[in-house]
Amino acid sequence: MTDNGESVELRRCDSCGARFLPNDGACPRCGSTRTRAYSAPALGTVLAATELTSPAEGWHAPHRLALVEMPEAVRLFAIVDGGLPSAGAIVAVRREGEVYRARTEPAPS
Ligand SMILES: [Zn+2]
Repeated sequence: MTDNGESVELRRCDSCGARFLPNDGACPRCGSTRTRAYSAPALGTVLAATELTSPAEGWHAPHRLALVEMPEAVRLFAIVDGGLPSAGAIVAVRREGEVYRARTEPAPS
């Protein structure tokens, strides 16, 4: 896996060491509020992906979603930009407002 130089913000719990997505409160594992942000490489592995042909109002069809595992086993759901990735594909992930977006990593040049 290559580093594209981008990163996503994740959080780490100082009490139990859990890694998780940024939230507004406590560690989801132990409840501690001693958590801090850190930056992780913005590349993840697709665990599963699906395509909705009739998404909820306000979304374009087809609407593609992927379950992505980031470094240190943090998992997130992302909207897929581009074609439907297969399981095991490497995607670049970025946060856009309240959602994550994933795109297939471009071929090395
Ligand atoms: Zn914790």
